Amino acid sequence: MLSILFASILLAPGGDSRPLDTVELTNGSKLTGRVVYEDADGIVLLSGSNEREIARDKIARCESRAAASREAFGLWRGLSEDDLAATLSLAKDCRARKLEEEAQLFAWQVLAHDGANAAAHEFLGHERRKDSWLVNDGVRRWPWEKLLELRADWKDAWVLSSEHYRVRTNLPLVEAVQSVLELEGAYESFFELLGRPLRFHELLEPLEAQVHADEKSFPEFAGDARSYFASATHVLYVNASRGFDRGALVHEAAHQLLDACIQTTRTGRGDVPGWLNEGLAEYMRATTLGPLGRPLCDPGALDLGRFREHAGAKEPYDLGRVLTFDSSDFLGSVKSSLKYSASYTLVCWALDSEEPQLRERFFAYLGKVCKGNGSSTAFKSALELDERAIQKDWDAFVRATLQEK
Ligand SMILES: [Zn+2]
Repeated sequence: MLSILFASILLAPGGDSRPLDTVELTNGSKLTGRVVYEDADGIVLLSGSNEREIARDKIARCESRAAASREAFGLWRGLSEDDLAATLSLAKDCRARKLEEEAQLFAWQVLAHDGANAAAHEFLGHERRKDSWLVNDGVRRWPWEKLLELRADWKDAWVLSSEHYRVRTNLPLVEAVQSVLELEGAYESFFELLGRPLRFHELLEPLEAQVHADEKSFPEFAGDARSYFASATHVLYVNASRGFDRGALVHEAAHQLLDACIQTTRTGRGDVPGWLNEGLAEYMRATTLGPLGRPLCDPGALDLGRFREHAGAKEPYDLGRVLTFDSSDFLGSVKSSLKYSASYTLVCWALDSEEPQLRERFFAYLGKVCKGNGSSTAFKSALELDERAIQKDWDAFVRATLQEK
């Protein structure tokens, strides 16, 4: 029996305008809606505002956008970067499966590497004009070469979409497409790490991101942060004027996803404690590997620099202090890097220690966080350990990790 602890559906007032998923039951009836959760036991189907849990043995056939888009990105990661024919064929496959955003994104990927590719231009509806192509841009039309120049200016920036993101960026097309692909990779890793065990529902409204290629257009934030997630607007901002930084993008994507998946049960700001928010974001950053645009999650990958910083500190932060860090403690304040390292190693300890029960209990704590109780008392009681025991075990884990590597 499925038990859904909390929902995280962000529906626009007008609802989700994409084609609906279809589910055929063994009794012959056909249902439509959106499959927002799926595991070995069954699915959760959202139809209008009704949520229905359907056991696996009652389902004859199920076609969902969530599964189709995961499959498309899985196929994408298996292609080599220069296999443009296969990329275009994947774009066509996505269009046939009504994944129009992915279809166009992969066609843009082809054009990013071969601006003269006629099949990709035609796929995107561009019109051939002598030896160039005309591209519709709202009420205007631009020759292809002119469009590439215009997009470098923030006011005419690219707006590229995927199943879960809408990204505005004035980066060159190669990196513009990469940033969307990186975000989709982060979404998938996040749901793999936290979404399944915590039964988060798929996000149905795209998350907004801005990746700025120039300093001038980047909206400043306290503490001179070069990238940040603004919880008031739910928008993720990356300053890529010194180069595209995957780590920064993935770190902020984790904050945005935590916000989107936990917000419906949050009782107010700050329910995801600062140490946990930053620790998980650093954990996701460190486990994201693979070539740019084809991110691969390696759950065993560690940022040993953070371990060294924490272990080598003259006055490392102890557990009592770490558990009370709030988000403002990380803003360019004194020893902020050390705070990230302490928070990150604590999250690694809870997720990756040799003790399987600990991970399970940590997820029980995350369940409480989702319900608005992320206090240090909740942490200790979910782990069934007192402060001294946690401190001792965490220290030993950090030492052992550094000795092993
Ligand atoms: Zn952060």
